[in-house]
Amino acid sequence: MAAAPGECDLAVVGGGILGLAVARELASRHPARSAMVLERAPEVATGQTGRNSGVIHAGIYYAPGSLKARMCVAGARALYGYCEERGVPFERCGKVIVARNEAELPRLDELERRGRENGVPGLRRLNAAELRELEPHCRGLAALHSPSTGIIDFAAVARSLARDLEAQGVPVVTGCRVTRVEQRPGRIALRHSHGEARARFAVFCAGAGSDRLAVAAGAPHDPRIVPFRGAYVYLRPERRELVRSLIYPVPDPSLPFLGVHLSRHIDGEVSLGPTALLAPRHPRDLTWPGTWRMARRWWRTGLNEIRHAVSRKSLAAAAADYVPEIRADDFDGGYAGVRAQALGRDGKLVDDFVVSETERALHVRNAPSPAATSSLALARLIADRADSLHAR
Ligand SMILES: Cc1cc2nc3c(=O)[nH]c(=O)nc-3n(C[C@H](O)[C@H](O)[C@H](O)COP(=O)(O)OP(=O)(O)OC[C@H]3O[C@@H](n4cnc5c(N)ncnc54)[C@H](O)[C@@H]3O)c2cc1C
Repeated sequence: MAAAPGECDLAVVGGGILGLAVARELASRHPARSAMVLERAPEVATGQTGRNSGVIHAGIYYAPGSLKARMCVAGARALYGYCEERGVPFERCGKVIVARNEAELPRLDELERRGRENGVPGLRRLNAAELRELEPHCRGLAALHSPSTGIIDFAAVARSLARDLEAQGVPVVTGCRVTRVEQRPGRIALRHSHGEARARFAVFCAGAGSDRLAVAAGAPHDPRIVPFRGAYVYLRPERRELVRSLIYPVPDPSLPFLGVHLSRHIDGEVSLGPTALLAPRHPRDLTWPGTWRMARRWWRTGLNEIRHAVSRKSLAAAAADYVPEIRADDFDGGYAGVRAQALGRDGKLVDDFVVSETERALHVRNAPSPAATSSLALARLIADRADSLHAR
């Protein structure tokens, strides 16, 4: 494990895919400046980066013009290029979004419109027979096929970025939790597990810890990160043939989650999930006014998610809506990840990526899915902002 230097030009807090991508981008632009990454866990990529669906999204869902739309399309392109160059395994396996009934057809139209406006390559509308050609066990009235969607292990990408940084002479210090942030003349000081690091500039990419660190650096309390647990179950090996690539339902347009989907993974597993269950880290999460406002608005959805979380049968029933052969006993084992989702005081889940500033620092305050796909493009955007703040 590298030791944390006491002084540097740039400190990045968080060794997930985003922090590592930002550090790499800034270190490549400014090789003469000193930099470091401070990560709380004993290894990189143990947060959201290591526990997700592993899907390289193509950019279909997101509001045209939003950061999510722009960063996802550019990020997927950059990620494919990076992984080819570095030999990180991926597969452009494609994906279908399935309309299960008449009521979902207008929403499928809207997804197609958004995807086209966002510049997603190769989108194609499928009828029921065409859908069966691609996914023989899937049933639906119609579907949208995105051939450029892919699968990858984002933790492998993060480890590759960490190797790049080490080759550039940038220490990635693990087991180093930042506990306090203080302003000093011409410096931002980060108190951490082993002492203190002072930097001329800092970028915080701390996932679930991003709100607390932003507030410690002088930012407003709003929005708060409210974690949502996403659990997945694995199809038994002998039932994996039910799914060729990625099968998603048409999502509920009012929620920032994509719905329970069937995903093939780069290691050959096929998963069903994720659930989306509110998972408070601390009693403070429950005293946040937004939590109660959200609960009042979404209690029905919440009950459904609780059913999914406690009962494999209920989760399997959601998938049987579009792959009717699926049964609850087709699943064995699984994993879970926790989404760091920002929630406003007004009870609204923040939809877009949010990057805000305090003195000598930038804070990523909302980087949920598809931020792993978008990481290389977001890193450029954050580096542009860091450069313009540094130049002031
Ligand atoms: C269930 C689920 C499914 C998803 N599916 C997809 C998908 O298919 N495709 C996609 O593109 N995206 C997906 N995402 C989103 C994606 O995983 C995240 O957007 C992305 O990983 C965010 O990266 P990050 O580096 O910001 O966060 P993280 O990976 O969470 O990294 C933050 C890091 O900061 C560290 N940290 C926190 N506090 C401190 C501190 N005080 N001091 C030092 N270090 C600290 C943490 O230990 C952590 O390593 C999914 C997310 C989840 C949870």
